[in-house]
Amino acid sequence: MSIAIYPGTFDPVTNGHIDIVERASKTVDHLTVGVVEISSKRTMFTIDERISLFAEAIIHVPNVSVQSYSGLTVNAAREIGADVIVRGLRITSDFEYESEMALMNRRMAEDIETICLFSALEYQILSSSRVKEVAALGADVSGLVPQNVWEPLSERIAQTKQDNAS
Ligand code: ADP
Repeated sequence: MSIAIYPGTFDPVTNGHIDIVERASKTVDHLTVGVVEISSKRTMFTIDERISLFAEAIIHVPNVSVQSYSGLTVNAAREIGADVIVRGLRITSDFEYESEMALMNRRMAEDIETICLFSALEYQILSSSRVKEVAALGADVSGLVPQNVWEPLSERIAQTKQDNAS
């Protein structure tokens, strides 16, 4: 049985991430989305929020689950029995970072292979940080993030603006 992990911050999940999950899930028996626990001061959404937003958005994909992890991705992969790490590539931005990360992970875990997938052309300039940036400036993000993210995203942006004003 082939098990893979798709690690990331997913703050919040975008349609680019969903595209990668849909492609990866066709190539393995089970895919676990690993949402990395980092300080909530550095993310817009808490770990629990990032997990539930992702889980709701991939409810239509049967062989995918979502869970948190902390520390090294290779250790998280071992814990769930995964021998593949899935990463997504955007042609203009990700190659250098992703190849360095893949080679470092290989150095630590020779038995775990990183597989990089390309998202659809329409998602090639899409990132969580760009979504947050344009949403804060009032852009319509409906084609960029799953529908269940629209409301929490605009609420969080409104809340941040209110906090900054007071
Ligand atoms: P990070 O893991 O660096 O915190 P993210 O959580 O945003 O970044 O993304 C997780 C993975 O998904 C990374 O491999 C990233 O390159 C990939 N990814 C993010 N957005 C897209 C996209 N629009 N198309 C393809 N891959 C993407």
